[in-house]
Amino acid sequence: MRERISLVDKAHELIGARLRPGALAIDATVGNGHDTLFLLRQVAPGGRVYGFDIQRSALESAEAKVKEPALRACLTLFHDSHAGLLERIPKTDHGAIAAVMFNLGYLPGGDKAVMTQADSTLAALTAASRLLSPGGILTIEAYPGHPGGAQETDQVGRWCEALNPERFKVEGIDAKPNAAAAPRLFAVTRSSA
Ligand code: SAH
Repeated sequence: MRERISLVDKAHELIGARLRPGALAIDATVGNGHDTLFLLRQVAPGGRVYGFDIQRSALESAEAKVKEPALRACLTLFHDSHAGLLERIPKTDHGAIAAVMFNLGYLPGGDKAVMTQADSTLAALTAASRLLSPGGILTIEAYPGHPGGAQETDQVGRWCEALNPERFKVEGIDAKPNAAAAPRLFAVTRSSA
């Protein structure tokens, strides 16, 4: 539990440094809405957070967490897979997204049969990398300890390695170095040029 919290904090620290009121952000896995709320607090007023989840119950509980009207005004939720990112995000916002967050695996306390799948995760990561603004950041929290999570984490790592180093900088952070099942955070930053 503490490990997870420290990686979440690290992701928030990296992302918080790049968001300002008025900015655009995406929560690709809304889940319990914790990251959605964090993003809203950074971009309000005037910004927008686009949130995706395939579970309606997740979207409903996230929406219930956003109580302030000023934050609600900045939220757009899609009951859809993040694999459809490019189609769902308005064309005018392509290349202008300052931050995208992925929190993989299943929702704690929810239906463990519903979890992210490597194929759609990779498709969504590729889409997300195309949406980023210069200097924009993409974070991925991956859980090798979840069923199927080890392969998904490996594939995410390989996807990061295959990025053009002239366009993207990749940082990998382990919750606990040398523990194969410990959560990992990948942070991908688009060059500013
Ligand atoms: N593993 C994390 C929580 C992840 S929650 C932890 O332990 O803290 C992951 C969320 O992603 C879930 O709410 C799930 O419904 C959602 N999800 C799964 N596949 C998805 C997809 N293809 N598109 C969007 N959301 C998806």
